[in-house]
Amino acid sequence: MSEATSNPKATPLVAVKGMNDILPPDSARWDWFEDTVRALMRRYGYLGMRTPIVEPTPLFVRGLGEVTDIVEKEMYSWIDSMNGDALTLRPEGTAGVVRAAIEHSMLYDGGKRLFYIGPMFRHERPQRGRYRQFHQVGVEALGFSGPDVDAEVILMCRSLWRDLGLADVRLDINCLGQAAERKAHREALVKHLVAGRELLDAEAQRRLHSNPLRILDTKNPAMQGLVEAAPRLMDYLGEASLKHFEGLCRVLDAAGQPYRVNHRLVRGMDYYALTVFEWVTDRLGAQGTVCGGGRYDGLAELIGGKAAPGIGWGLGIERVLDLLQQSGIEAPAAVPDVYAVVPSIEALPAAMQAAEALRAAGVAVLMHAAGKDGWGSMKSQFKRADASGARHALIFGAEELARGEVAVKPLRDAAAAQSTRALADLAAWSAELRTA
Ligand code: ATP
Ligand code: MG
Repeated sequence: MSEATSNPKATPLVAVKGMNDILPPDSARWDWFEDTVRALMRRYGYLGMRTPIVEPTPLFVRGLGEVTDIVEKEMYSWIDSMNGDALTLRPEGTAGVVRAAIEHSMLYDGGKRLFYIGPMFRHERPQRGRYRQFHQVGVEALGFSGPDVDAEVILMCRSLWRDLGLADVRLDINCLGQAAERKAHREALVKHLVAGRELLDAEAQRRLHSNPLRILDTKNPAMQGLVEAAPRLMDYLGEASLKHFEGLCRVLDAAGQPYRVNHRLVRGMDYYALTVFEWVTDRLGAQGTVCGGGRYDGLAELIGGKAAPGIGWGLGIERVLDLLQQSGIEAPAAVPDVYAVVPSIEALPAAMQAAEALRAAGVAVLMHAAGKDGWGSMKSQFKRADASGARHALIFGAEELARGEVAVKPLRDAAAAQSTRALADLAAWSAELRTA
């Protein structure tokens, strides 16, 4: 016997801080959201990928870069006590997808359009919109180098906002150019920041020589003036980078998608190049970025593969669901079509058989089941039928069953009358019970 059951005073066990249970009825919003995402992916031709939640730690250290928030302080990493392997709970999805694509030679016959949905783990201070286990939808388009695919993945998001009924999500874009261009800009940037050194906070001081670009996306109000006046990366870009950026802008313009060129948008990970973007909202307070992404043409090589271009985004599901709630958008209710009322347990086998036939015909049937007080009176069964939200109750009375029939009682329409149906031609009338 375990300690918990032998000691009635044992402290109740609770979930790890920052890691949430997702329970009914909330889980219905998650299901609806994920269904909507999968339908979107089908329309755009993106195929599902499922990679492990645990990856070798070097995948992230090399892929994301050592001087990133994630690698510096947010990863759940440990040494496997069996074999000494350095392992990490994935903090993001791109590195794992690119690793898998390389490992399985997925790009040998051309580009691949991929997506995933799943949990990510970051050891951050939990607050609204910021959890330690959170969930992302991500897309990765691998093997395509043109700005057309950048535009495609961005427009997919717009399509998702539309499918969900969300209106208040804005698009910010920027171009990070290539490494050589960033190097030239970096010198000017460091010079500017050093000149304003007394304004830099401790984190910025630390990043001044390791990752000065990241200082641009500081949220510290005291540093806003300094970073606003900083030299712009865009002014250091060569012709090819500018052409790529203009190519993206042209498609967005033609698609009627407004955007703001945000010179301070640099994104967290080292692996980004050329296009970066974020979808942001004002409705979620400090955690207003619902989706972020960009091009990562150098990532495949960083993690030991052949060079392969890539672009993708990651969307925070918790933040999007919060935004839906803020916007008053409800998921369609997940209610059964019918609740099966079974007056006597003797009728259960016949009722179960009819319920199975109805389900096979696409009707959502919730069977009455015994509670802790036994089978339950008709009155208590009807109370549960009402509470279930079902539109109809099917009443499997002994007399009706003896005649091969079942009574159908509308629950949501007081004016509608109860009727009787033959179980023999169930397939024919079951359609009238079905809502979806
Ligand atoms: P932030 O600046 O808010 O920390 P980030 O740049 O670290 O975001 P990404 O790594 O780009 O975030 O992840 C993509 C999306 O995942 C974010 O835009 C956000 O919606 C979501 N996200 C990131 N971290 C968390 C978290 N700890 N909890 C919930 N959602 C998160
Ligand atoms: Mg972060």
